[in-house]
Amino acid sequence: MAKIAVPITSLKQLKKAEALADIIELRLDFFTKRDLAQLKKLKTSKQLIATLRPKWELGNFKGTEIQREKLFSQLVASHNFTYVDLEFDAKFSKDFTKQVKASGAKLILSKHFPKNIPSVPELQKLQKQMAAKGADVCKIIGTAERFFDNLSTLNLVKLSTSPIVSFCMGEFGPISRILSCTFGAEFTFASLDKASGTAPGQIPAVELRQAFTQLANRPDASGILMVIGDPIDHSLSPQMQNAAINHLGLKSFYMKQRVPPELLKDFTFMCKSLGINGFNVTIPHKVSVMQFMDFTDKHASRIGAVNTVTIQNTRAFGHNTDSLGVSFSLKQLDPILKAKKVLLIGAGGAGRAAVYGLWKQEADITLTNRTESKSLALARDFNCKTLPFSSLRNPKILSDFKIIINATSLGLKSDVSPISKFPKAKAKGNGAPIAFDLVYSPKGTQFLKKAKSAGWKTLDGSEMLVQQGAEAFKLFTGETPNINIMRDAVKKSLSAKK
Ligand code: NAP
Repeated sequence: MAKIAVPITSLKQLKKAEALADIIELRLDFFTKRDLAQLKKLKTSKQLIATLRPKWELGNFKGTEIQREKLFSQLVASHNFTYVDLEFDAKFSKDFTKQVKASGAKLILSKHFPKNIPSVPELQKLQKQMAAKGADVCKIIGTAERFFDNLSTLNLVKLSTSPIVSFCMGEFGPISRILSCTFGAEFTFASLDKASGTAPGQIPAVELRQAFTQLANRPDASGILMVIGDPIDHSLSPQMQNAAINHLGLKSFYMKQRVPPELLKDFTFMCKSLGINGFNVTIPHKVSVMQFMDFTDKHASRIGAVNTVTIQNTRAFGHNTDSLGVSFSLKQLDPILKAKKVLLIGAGGAGRAAVYGLWKQEADITLTNRTESKSLALARDFNCKTLPFSSLRNPKILSDFKIIINATSLGLKSDVSPISKFPKAKAKGNGAPIAFDLVYSPKGTQFLKKAKSAGWKTLDGSEMLVQQGAEAFKLFTGETPNINIMRDAVKKSLSAKK
């Protein structure tokens, strides 16, 4: 199993780190004088890295280099560390290196690139220089300014024949923290918890352990699945898909990643180069991701949006499972959609999929969207009616519909509803009209609250999440997931969010 190193900035964190880490990195540059004095008495069964990082290499030691070497020597003498981490660019005397080796510790020489990560041949040259300077382990850390940067560190690890630690920091780097060990790195770094990360992009140790356990030493990137969007924090797909993965005992791990629009092409290219299993796509990329697909299936092509991408032999295949998600969910409240009067608000990726799902069920669809040109174009594609967006202020017009669907991102980004006043439902119980909000988090959006208080039946997006997720799972893995396990995982995560 891949090894996880967890940095701690005070001895108070030691116990917690012992429960999570294989290796504990003592960030001595953050330690108080009291903590430093207690190092002599430190007892732990874990391997230890001693690091005294200076300001010039993103650390917290504020003294001169002479003071740093003196203090570091004293600390190395005070404890049996497994590793001592020294910056490749530090101007320490040769005696320090000798002292480290004499203490029985392995010398890590490290170099961080806060931007402009060099090419793989340049990194290999650096690795050679580190080895020549006495490194037992070379640590070369980049910062992912774009997703493609991860490939530099991962390829460096893949090609290395000596002990190496290399990955990318930053918001776009988590995948390299996971895969570096798959490709042969000595260890990788994780944070103690979400709040105490010492470097941007660090994954909490519990999550990284989950990734390694699920991947179970799978030798390549093909176990990785993702959901991407911007924003993406709200997504419950990882909890839901990992529950299904674990239930079937598959060697896979599903993670979320924010991808800003300008990096969508770069992200897709990285996934194809790495050969990950695939990814789900959410707001705002479902339409724009299509241009980066090598093939698009007939449903996704007709819809004009992709929510599931599978990768095979460096090719990206676009699919759409949202349309099934919409119709399967609605049918739980109303099994007959044929000829039902439906008002669909929104003409983005999810709106397009909803139209396709409803069109296949022969529903009587009317479309509206803030940007009218988009709803007009979509209505032309599926031969349906349209209304101006301002009609949403007219309860009389709204009372004409048996089903109103919110497929806009209103409610997700802010607590507002595209409809401020629902007309009173004319029928009660089973005959009442249905308000369906595709948003599932936060639970109980303004749209659904307003509909409910007017006597409408309500449906949030959680069942759609499960249904589209189950279809995507089949495409990714070729296996049928247990839908109840997925449903339970979503319910549990939603109630934990409250
Ligand atoms: P998208 O492609 O970015 O489309 C966004 C839609 O929201 C467009 O119709 C847009 O109108 C509209 N919109 C955004 N801001 C608005 C505002 N201030 N006022 C009025 N309309 C506004 O996003 P998407 O992928 O279709 O996702 C839409 C929603 O569905 C999101 O909340 C997403 O979480 C949800 N969803 C849920 C599931 C599920 O499984 N439950 C699956 C897919 C999507 P314009 O065209 O005028 O910009």
